[in-house]
Amino acid sequence: MSLIEIPNEIIEAPNFIGGEWIKGDGESIDIYSPYNGKVVGRTNESSSKQIDQAIAKAKDAQVLWEKTPLKDRTKVMFNFREILLRDIEKIAHIVSLENGKIISESKAGIMKGIEVLEYAISLQNLDAGSKMEVSRGVFCEYRREALGVVASITPFNFPAMVPMWTIPIAITLGNSYIWKPSEKTPLTATLIGNALTEAGLPAGVLTILNGTANCVNDIIDHKDVAAVGFVGSSKIAKIVYSRATALGKRALCLGGAKNHIILLPDADPEMSGIGIADSFTGCAGQRCMAASVLLAVGEVDKQIESIVERAKSTSLGDKMGAIITKEQLDFLSGAIDKAASEGAKILLDGREAKKPEGDGYWLGPTILDGVKENSEASKVELFGPVMSIIRCSNLSEALRIENANEYGNAASVFTNSGAMAEVVAQNASAGMVGINIGVPVPREPFSFGGINESKFGYGDITGENSLNFWSHVKKVTTKWQMQNDHNWMS
Ligand code: NAD
Repeated sequence: MSLIEIPNEIIEAPNFIGGEWIKGDGESIDIYSPYNGKVVGRTNESSSKQIDQAIAKAKDAQVLWEKTPLKDRTKVMFNFREILLRDIEKIAHIVSLENGKIISESKAGIMKGIEVLEYAISLQNLDAGSKMEVSRGVFCEYRREALGVVASITPFNFPAMVPMWTIPIAITLGNSYIWKPSEKTPLTATLIGNALTEAGLPAGVLTILNGTANCVNDIIDHKDVAAVGFVGSSKIAKIVYSRATALGKRALCLGGAKNHIILLPDADPEMSGIGIADSFTGCAGQRCMAASVLLAVGEVDKQIESIVERAKSTSLGDKMGAIITKEQLDFLSGAIDKAASEGAKILLDGREAKKPEGDGYWLGPTILDGVKENSEASKVELFGPVMSIIRCSNLSEALRIENANEYGNAASVFTNSGAMAEVVAQNASAGMVGINIGVPVPREPFSFGGINESKFGYGDITGENSLNFWSHVKKVTTKWQMQNDHNWMS
């Protein structure tokens, strides 16, 4: 079993203010590795005073950064890409250490971040602006301008990828960027800050502030922060969205999910077995795109057998990582017991899976069959490798259940029928739909974003729909005295 190497020394995650690494001046926060349950790092809360000083530096830096031509801003991002590729092993190791993912998943997250970065690099070609002579001598044009200082608050489950959804686009558009990483996984931020500095990003354009709710509130409330991007649970997304918009700021807050997969009897057993098992076990189910409820329509036992077999082979520490905290592990175990006490049959119990040695937080893939429609296991975002199967007699019943769930991040269907797939694509209540794909994350330049309780605010977090969120579009109309003939040529 290949576990990651755990360093002996404690890694510090300081703040990054005006291009310098400065320890947060508030209480200390320990970082535990889910791999062994031990403290591997430390960060600190940031006081209101320190946050204020940091934002003042970010504001100063932004003025010059915005005046730097887009082509030159893009060059920094191009260098950043090369450094990330060079250092991918080192960064992936830290992501795994603090988050508990397996190394290949950490690398995949960084590669997805690089895809967003490549999109940002192409902005100079994609978004060159437009100008038109609307009547003789009168010209209208669009000019994209930065907002100023913008902020981003990120969750624990993708310490590199989620920040990389917004860092390249918001910064390339000329903003300076305040990043508040999850207090559970702040170590990766240090590597990203160093990589951007080496890439040539001027001091102050990226600021990293560590802390918890108070730190977030101070950032949102600061008069010089123009926009707030947030990714995390729906409960906090709603709080952050309300707070920012009450102050007249733009906010885009992505929340939690409860993603449904509809399995139809004509689905290919091997394809659906792999696709569905990998969807609920990938990143130990700790991703907002994970399958969580399987709506099994009609006679699909062959396919379910194939899912169980694939999930059984997903060994802990090797093919699947750990759960973020002991509390979350206990919560998942309680949720499994609760579902069983309500009549669900446990087809696969991850608590019995072989665990790596030590005190890490491990739970193997768990499949619950015959889950009741209105139970906790079918409605609450569990955020672990637990899939609930609800048996349905037809597609309409499956769609009714999918539509009734309050979230709306992703939904998928596994079928060989194009017509049935189209019915699901048209009627699923989700921002992202997969057809024979368990994790339907759109690739750049297609935007990422859900609906309903999975997203508060307008627009999407990546791709073309994110550009208007991180910038103003100024409309300039110009009039020149123009001659109507060609005398000017003589
Ligand atoms: P979380 O909501 O607990 O924390 C997210 C961020 O909010 C952290 O930086 C945290 O410090 C901050 N925060 C926590 N409490 C706060 C408060 N009271 N006020 C202000 N800020 C506060 O989420 P998490 O546990 O880190 O991440 C898991 C959640 O994120 C899941 O629900 C998952 O579905 C969701 N998620 C969603 C997406 C998406 O694209 N929709 C992507 C990744 C994760």
